Amino acid sequence: MVYNFSAGPGMLPASVLEEVQSQLLSYEGSGVSIVEMSHRSSTFMEVVHDLEHRLRRLMHIPDTYAVLFLQGGATLQFSMVPMNLRNSGRFAYLDSGTWSKKAMQDAKPFGDVVVVGSSASTNYKTLPDWSQPIHDVDYLHLTLNNTIEGTRYTTLPETNVPLVADVSSNILAEPIDVERFGLLYAGAQKNIGPAGLTVVIVRRDLLQEQDVPSYLSYARHVDTLLNTPATFSLYVAERVLAWVEAEGGVSEMERRNREKSERLYDALDSSTRFRPLVTEPSCRSLTNIPFTTGDDVTDEAFRQFAQTRGLIELGGHRSVGGLRASLYNAMPLAGVNRLIETMQAFEQGGHDVSH
Ligand code: PMP
Repeated sequence: MVYNFSAGPGMLPASVLEEVQSQLLSYEGSGVSIVEMSHRSSTFMEVVHDLEHRLRRLMHIPDTYAVLFLQGGATLQFSMVPMNLRNSGRFAYLDSGTWSKKAMQDAKPFGDVVVVGSSASTNYKTLPDWSQPIHDVDYLHLTLNNTIEGTRYTTLPETNVPLVADVSSNILAEPIDVERFGLLYAGAQKNIGPAGLTVVIVRRDLLQEQDVPSYLSYARHVDTLLNTPATFSLYVAERVLAWVEAEGGVSEMERRNREKSERLYDALDSSTRFRPLVTEPSCRSLTNIPFTTGDDVTDEAFRQFAQTRGLIELGGHRSVGGLRASLYNAMPLAGVNRLIETMQAFEQGGHDVSH
Protein backbone atom coordinates (compact mmCIF):
# COMPACT_ATOMS: atom_id res chain seq x y z
CA MET A 1 0.00 0.00 0.00
CA VAL A 2 1.34 3.39 -1.04
CA TYR A 3 0.17 6.44 0.92
CA ASN A 4 0.10 9.63 -1.11
CA PHE A 5 0.62 12.79 0.97
CA SER A 6 0.40 15.11 -2.04
CA ALA A 7 -1.20 18.54 -1.59
CA GLY A 8 -3.09 18.07 -4.83
CA PRO A 9 -4.01 16.30 -6.94
CA GLY A 10 -4.45 14.31 -3.77
CA MET A 11 -5.31 10.82 -2.69
CA LEU A 12 -8.83 9.61 -3.64
CA PRO A 13 -10.73 6.73 -2.02
CA ALA A 14 -9.53 3.43 -3.51
CA SER A 15 -13.08 2.07 -3.63
CA VAL A 16 -14.12 4.99 -5.86
CA LEU A 17 -11.20 4.49 -8.23
CA GLU A 18 -12.01 0.78 -8.46
CA GLU A 19 -15.63 1.55 -9.26
CA VAL A 20 -14.62 4.08 -11.92
CA GLN A 21 -12.25 1.55 -13.43
CA SER A 22 -14.94 -1.11 -13.60
CA GLN A 23 -17.38 1.31 -15.24
CA LEU A 24 -15.01 3.00 -17.64
CA LEU A 25 -15.66 0.94 -20.77
CA SER A 26 -19.39 0.57 -20.33
CA TYR A 27 -21.23 2.93 -18.01
CA GLU A 28 -23.95 1.03 -16.15
CA GLY A 29 -24.07 -1.57 -18.92
CA SER A 30 -24.81 0.98 -21.65
CA GLY A 31 -21.90 -0.15 -23.84
CA VAL A 32 -20.60 3.42 -23.90
CA SER A 33 -18.05 5.07 -21.63
CA ILE A 34 -19.17 8.02 -19.56
CA VAL A 35 -16.37 10.02 -21.23
CA GLU A 36 -17.91 9.36 -24.65
CA MET A 37 -21.36 10.60 -23.72
CA SER A 38 -22.88 13.92 -24.58
CA HIS A 39 -22.88 16.28 -21.61
CA ARG A 40 -26.51 17.02 -22.55
CA SER A 41 -27.60 13.36 -22.50
CA SER A 42 -30.10 12.46 -19.81
CA THR A 43 -27.61 9.98 -18.32
CA PHE A 44 -24.94 12.63 -17.92
CA MET A 45 -27.36 15.32 -16.75
CA GLU A 46 -28.37 12.97 -13.98
CA VAL A 47 -24.74 12.69 -12.86
CA VAL A 48 -24.48 16.49 -12.68
CA HIS A 49 -27.80 16.74 -10.86
CA ASP A 50 -26.73 14.11 -8.31
CA LEU A 51 -23.38 15.81 -7.82
CA GLU A 52 -25.03 19.15 -7.11
CA HIS A 53 -27.56 17.64 -4.73
CA ARG A 54 -24.97 15.64 -2.84
CA LEU A 55 -22.88 18.79 -2.43
CA ARG A 56 -25.94 20.74 -1.24
CA ARG A 57 -26.75 18.04 1.32
CA LEU A 58 -23.18 17.63 2.53
CA MET A 59 -22.55 21.36 2.93
CA HIS A 60 -26.11 22.45 3.80
CA ILE A 61 -26.22 24.85 0.85
CA PRO A 62 -29.61 26.59 0.70
CA ASP A 63 -31.47 27.39 -2.54
CA THR A 64 -30.50 31.03 -2.17
CA TYR A 65 -27.07 29.93 -3.40
CA ALA A 66 -26.17 28.72 -6.89
CA VAL A 67 -23.67 25.92 -7.36
CA LEU A 68 -21.50 26.22 -10.47
CA PHE A 69 -19.17 23.64 -11.98
CA LEU A 70 -16.45 25.43 -13.89
CA GLN A 71 -12.96 24.88 -15.27
CA GLY A 72 -9.77 26.89 -14.97
CA GLY A 73 -8.93 25.80 -11.43
CA ALA A 74 -9.08 27.95 -8.34
CA THR A 75 -6.67 30.19 -10.25
CA LEU A 76 -9.33 31.39 -12.68
CA GLN A 77 -11.48 32.37 -9.69
CA PHE A 78 -8.78 34.83 -8.62
CA SER A 79 -9.93 37.01 -11.54
CA MET A 80 -13.55 35.86 -11.97
CA VAL A 81 -14.37 36.99 -8.43
CA PRO A 82 -13.41 40.66 -8.94
CA MET A 83 -14.78 40.66 -12.51
CA ASN A 84 -18.19 39.53 -11.34
CA LEU A 85 -18.59 41.09 -7.89
CA ARG A 86 -17.31 44.47 -9.00
CA ASN A 87 -19.43 47.48 -8.04
CA SER A 88 -17.32 50.18 -6.41
CA GLY A 89 -14.13 48.55 -7.70
CA ARG A 90 -12.55 48.38 -4.22
CA PHE A 91 -11.75 44.88 -2.99
CA ALA A 92 -10.46 43.90 0.47
CA TYR A 93 -8.03 41.01 0.98
CA LEU A 94 -6.49 39.26 3.95
CA ASP A 95 -2.93 38.28 3.12
CA SER A 96 -2.23 34.87 4.66
CA GLY A 97 0.31 33.49 2.22
CA THR A 98 1.09 32.40 -1.32
CA TRP A 99 -2.42 31.71 -2.59
CA SER A 100 -3.99 34.83 -1.14
CA LYS A 101 -1.19 36.90 -2.69
CA LYS A 102 -1.87 35.30 -6.06
CA ALA A 103 -5.56 36.09 -5.65
CA MET A 104 -4.73 39.75 -4.98
CA GLN A 105 -2.41 39.94 -7.94
CA ASP A 106 -5.13 38.76 -10.31
CA ALA A 107 -7.70 41.18 -8.85
CA LYS A 108 -5.55 44.24 -9.56
CA PRO A 109 -6.55 44.66 -13.22
CA PHE A 110 -10.19 45.06 -12.10
CA GLY A 111 -9.94 47.58 -9.28
CA ASP A 112 -8.16 48.70 -6.12
CA VAL A 113 -6.93 45.93 -3.88
CA VAL A 114 -6.94 46.93 -0.21
CA VAL A 115 -4.94 44.67 2.13
CA VAL A 116 -6.83 44.83 5.44
CA GLY A 117 -4.57 42.42 7.30
CA SER A 118 -1.41 40.43 6.70
CA SER A 119 0.61 37.82 8.56
CA ALA A 120 3.74 38.45 6.46
CA SER A 121 5.58 39.54 9.64
CA THR A 122 5.42 35.98 11.05
CA ASN A 123 6.35 34.57 7.65
CA TYR A 124 2.72 33.37 7.44
CA LYS A 125 3.05 31.02 10.40
CA THR A 126 0.01 32.73 11.93
CA LEU A 127 -3.14 34.29 10.49
CA PRO A 128 -3.69 38.00 9.82
CA ASP A 129 -5.50 40.27 12.27
CA TRP A 130 -8.18 42.61 11.06
CA SER A 131 -8.42 45.23 13.77
CA GLN A 132 -10.21 47.87 11.68
CA PRO A 133 -13.83 47.59 10.57
CA ILE A 134 -14.05 46.58 6.93
CA HIS A 135 -16.57 48.48 4.80
CA ASP A 136 -16.92 50.35 1.49
CA VAL A 137 -15.53 47.45 -0.49
CA ASP A 138 -17.27 44.99 -2.82
CA TYR A 139 -16.11 41.98 -0.83
CA LEU A 140 -13.51 40.68 1.59
CA HIS A 141 -11.44 37.76 0.29
CA LEU A 142 -9.65 35.22 2.45
CA THR A 143 -7.96 31.86 1.92
CA LEU A 144 -9.70 29.76 4.56
CA ASN A 145 -7.05 27.04 4.58
CA ASN A 146 -3.53 27.87 3.48
CA THR A 147 -2.31 24.76 1.68
CA ILE A 148 1.35 25.77 1.58
CA GLU A 149 1.77 27.45 4.97
CA GLY A 150 -0.46 24.96 6.83
CA THR A 151 -2.68 27.49 8.60
CA ARG A 152 -6.46 27.85 8.74
CA TYR A 153 -8.90 30.40 10.10
CA THR A 154 -11.19 29.31 12.90
CA THR A 155 -12.84 32.71 13.35
CA LEU A 156 -14.14 34.96 10.60
CA PRO A 157 -14.20 38.75 10.37
CA GLU A 158 -17.46 40.38 11.39
CA THR A 159 -18.36 42.59 8.47
CA ASN A 160 -21.36 43.54 6.38
CA VAL A 161 -19.51 43.10 3.10
CA PRO A 162 -19.74 39.69 1.42
CA LEU A 163 -17.03 37.27 2.49
CA VAL A 164 -15.37 35.41 -0.37
CA ALA A 165 -13.27 32.38 0.51
CA ASP A 166 -10.89 30.10 -1.31
CA VAL A 167 -11.70 26.71 0.23
CA SER A 168 -9.67 24.59 -2.20
CA SER A 169 -7.88 22.61 0.50
CA ASN A 170 -10.54 22.32 3.20
CA ILE A 171 -13.86 21.93 1.35
CA LEU A 172 -15.58 18.74 2.61
CA ALA A 173 -12.72 18.20 5.08
CA GLU A 174 -14.41 20.21 7.82
CA PRO A 175 -17.79 21.94 8.11
CA ILE A 176 -18.00 25.38 6.50
CA ASP A 177 -20.92 27.61 7.43
CA VAL A 178 -21.91 28.48 3.86
CA GLU A 179 -24.35 31.19 4.93
CA ARG A 180 -21.54 33.27 6.44
CA PHE A 181 -20.15 33.68 2.91
CA GLY A 182 -21.16 35.44 -0.27
CA LEU A 183 -19.04 33.13 -2.39
CA LEU A 184 -16.89 30.04 -1.90
CA TYR A 185 -14.65 28.45 -4.50
CA ALA A 186 -12.45 25.38 -4.70
CA GLY A 187 -10.38 23.45 -7.19
CA ALA A 188 -11.59 19.84 -7.05
CA GLN A 189 -8.28 18.02 -6.98
CA LYS A 190 -7.91 17.64 -3.20
CA ASN A 191 -11.13 16.52 -1.55
CA ILE A 192 -13.63 16.43 -4.41
CA GLY A 193 -12.13 14.46 -7.29
CA PRO A 194 -9.76 14.75 -10.24
CA ALA A 195 -8.33 18.05 -11.46
CA GLY A 196 -10.19 19.94 -14.17
CA LEU A 197 -13.24 20.89 -12.13
CA THR A 198 -13.77 24.00 -10.02
CA VAL A 199 -16.72 24.37 -7.68
CA VAL A 200 -18.21 27.83 -7.05
CA ILE A 201 -20.96 28.38 -4.49
CA VAL A 202 -22.40 31.87 -4.80
CA ARG A 203 -25.27 33.73 -3.16
CA ARG A 204 -27.75 34.39 -5.93
CA ASP A 205 -28.34 38.03 -4.99
CA LEU A 206 -24.66 38.75 -5.75
CA LEU A 207 -25.01 37.61 -9.35
CA GLN A 208 -25.12 40.39 -11.88
CA GLU A 209 -24.63 40.78 -15.60
CA GLN A 210 -21.19 42.23 -16.21
CA ASP A 211 -19.57 43.24 -19.45
CA VAL A 212 -17.27 40.22 -19.57
CA PRO A 213 -16.89 37.29 -22.00
CA SER A 214 -19.64 34.74 -21.51
CA TYR A 215 -17.58 31.99 -19.90
CA LEU A 216 -16.24 34.44 -17.32
CA SER A 217 -19.70 35.54 -16.16
CA TYR A 218 -21.10 33.63 -13.17
CA ALA A 219 -24.63 34.61 -14.18
CA ARG A 220 -24.27 32.73 -17.47
CA HIS A 221 -23.52 29.45 -15.64
CA VAL A 222 -26.44 29.45 -13.22
CA ASP A 223 -28.73 26.40 -13.50
CA THR A 224 -27.26 25.41 -16.88
CA LEU A 225 -24.18 23.93 -18.51
CA LEU A 226 -22.92 26.85 -20.59
CA ASN A 227 -20.46 24.69 -22.55
CA THR A 228 -18.87 21.25 -22.44
CA PRO A 229 -17.75 20.72 -18.85
CA ALA A 230 -14.97 18.43 -17.59
CA THR A 231 -17.23 15.39 -17.84
CA PHE A 232 -14.84 12.82 -16.41
CA SER A 233 -14.02 15.02 -13.42
CA LEU A 234 -17.72 15.64 -12.75
CA TYR A 235 -18.46 11.93 -12.92
CA VAL A 236 -15.69 10.96 -10.50
CA ALA A 237 -16.58 13.86 -8.18
CA GLU A 238 -20.14 12.57 -7.94
CA ARG A 239 -18.79 9.15 -6.89
CA VAL A 240 -16.42 10.73 -4.34
CA LEU A 241 -19.29 12.67 -2.79
CA ALA A 242 -21.36 9.49 -2.63
CA TRP A 243 -18.45 7.98 -0.71
CA VAL A 244 -18.33 10.97 1.68
CA GLU A 245 -22.06 10.63 2.34
CA ALA A 246 -21.81 6.88 2.89
CA GLU A 247 -18.91 7.35 5.30
CA GLY A 248 -20.94 9.71 7.49
CA GLY A 249 -20.68 13.15 5.86
CA VAL A 250 -18.53 16.18 6.54
CA SER A 251 -18.69 15.98 10.35
CA GLU A 252 -17.27 12.46 10.18
CA MET A 253 -14.58 13.65 7.73
CA GLU A 254 -13.70 16.39 10.21
CA ARG A 255 -13.52 13.91 13.09
CA ARG A 256 -11.11 11.74 11.10
CA ASN A 257 -9.03 14.68 9.87
CA ARG A 258 -8.80 16.05 13.41
CA GLU A 259 -7.64 12.69 14.73
CA LYS A 260 -5.06 12.34 11.94
CA SER A 261 -3.69 15.86 12.28
CA GLU A 262 -3.60 15.74 16.10
CA ARG A 263 -1.71 12.49 16.00
CA LEU A 264 0.85 13.88 13.57
CA TYR A 265 1.17 17.17 15.47
CA ASP A 266 1.66 15.28 18.77
CA ALA A 267 4.46 13.32 17.14
CA LEU A 268 6.04 16.48 15.72
CA ASP A 269 5.71 18.41 19.00
CA SER A 270 7.45 15.64 20.94
CA SER A 271 10.06 14.75 18.32
CA THR A 272 13.72 15.46 18.91
CA ARG A 273 14.43 15.49 15.18
CA PHE A 274 11.41 17.04 13.46
CA ARG A 275 9.48 20.18 14.23
CA PRO A 276 6.25 21.64 12.88
CA LEU A 277 6.41 24.98 11.07
CA VAL A 278 3.11 26.18 12.55
CA THR A 279 3.77 26.36 16.28
CA GLU A 280 0.54 28.08 17.35
CA PRO A 281 -2.02 25.25 17.76
CA SER A 282 -5.02 27.51 17.09
CA CYS A 283 -3.71 28.31 13.59
CA ARG A 284 -3.01 24.74 12.53
CA SER A 285 -4.67 23.30 9.43
CA LEU A 286 -6.35 19.91 9.68
CA THR A 287 -5.33 19.00 6.14
CA ASN A 288 -1.86 20.41 5.39
CA ILE A 289 0.98 20.00 7.88
CA PRO A 290 4.38 21.48 7.01
CA PHE A 291 7.37 20.30 9.04
CA THR A 292 11.15 20.16 8.90
CA THR A 293 14.28 18.80 10.51
CA GLY A 294 15.69 22.31 10.19
CA ASP A 295 18.15 21.22 7.53
CA ASP A 296 17.50 20.90 3.78
CA VAL A 297 19.78 17.93 3.27
CA THR A 298 18.24 15.97 6.16
CA ASP A 299 14.72 16.87 4.98
CA GLU A 300 15.57 15.46 1.58
CA ALA A 301 17.09 12.35 3.15
CA PHE A 302 13.88 11.79 5.11
CA ARG A 303 11.73 12.33 2.01
CA GLN A 304 13.69 9.62 0.23
CA PHE A 305 13.68 7.30 3.25
CA ALA A 306 9.89 7.68 3.55
CA GLN A 307 9.47 7.02 -0.16
CA THR A 308 11.20 3.66 0.15
CA ARG A 309 8.54 2.81 2.74
CA GLY A 310 5.65 3.69 0.46
CA LEU A 311 5.06 7.22 1.77
CA ILE A 312 5.19 9.51 -1.22
CA GLU A 313 4.91 13.24 -2.02
CA LEU A 314 6.21 14.45 1.35
CA GLY A 315 8.27 17.31 -0.10
CA GLY A 316 7.22 20.85 0.85
CA HIS A 317 5.91 23.27 -1.77
CA ARG A 318 8.67 24.39 -4.12
CA SER A 319 8.36 27.96 -2.77
CA VAL A 320 9.08 27.02 0.87
CA GLY A 321 10.93 23.70 0.81
CA GLY A 322 11.01 21.43 3.86
CA LEU A 323 8.42 18.68 4.27
CA ARG A 324 4.63 18.65 4.17
CA ALA A 325 2.02 16.00 4.79
CA SER A 326 -1.41 16.61 3.27
CA LEU A 327 -4.08 14.60 5.05
CA TYR A 328 -7.16 14.86 2.85
CA ASN A 329 -10.31 12.83 3.40
CA ALA A 330 -9.09 9.73 1.58
CA MET A 331 -5.91 9.44 3.69
CA PRO A 332 -6.54 6.72 6.25
CA LEU A 333 -5.31 6.91 9.84
CA ALA A 334 -3.05 3.96 8.98
CA GLY A 335 -1.13 6.24 6.58
CA VAL A 336 -0.48 8.75 9.34
CA ASN A 337 0.55 5.99 11.74
CA ARG A 338 2.99 4.70 9.14
CA LEU A 339 4.38 8.22 8.70
CA ILE A 340 4.91 8.60 12.47
CA GLU A 341 6.62 5.19 12.70
CA THR A 342 8.83 6.18 9.79
CA MET A 343 9.79 9.45 11.48
CA GLN A 344 10.69 7.50 14.62
CA ALA A 345 12.71 4.97 12.65
CA PHE A 346 14.54 7.85 10.95
CA GLU A 347 15.23 9.48 14.31
CA GLN A 348 16.64 6.31 15.80
CA GLY A 349 18.20 4.76 12.76
CA GLY A 350 21.34 6.80 12.41
CA HIS A 351 20.13 8.51 9.25
CA ASP A 352 22.19 11.50 10.27
CA VAL A 353 23.22 13.37 7.19
CA SER A 354 23.32 16.79 8.83
CA HIS A 355 26.55 18.69 8.46
N1 PMP B 1 -5.83 28.12 -3.78
C1 PMP B 1 -5.40 27.17 -2.92
C2 PMP B 1 -5.70 27.34 -1.46
C3 PMP B 1 -4.68 26.08 -3.39
O1 PMP B 1 -4.24 25.15 -2.53
C4 PMP B 1 -4.43 25.96 -4.78
C5 PMP B 1 -3.70 24.79 -5.39
N2 PMP B 1 -2.99 24.00 -4.60
C6 PMP B 1 -4.88 26.98 -5.62
C7 PMP B 1 -5.60 28.02 -5.09
C8 PMP B 1 -4.65 26.92 -7.12
O2 PMP B 1 -5.50 25.98 -7.59
P1 PMP B 1 -5.57 25.51 -9.13
O3 PMP B 1 -4.30 24.76 -9.38
O4 PMP B 1 -6.78 24.65 -9.11
O5 PMP B 1 -5.72 26.70 -9.96
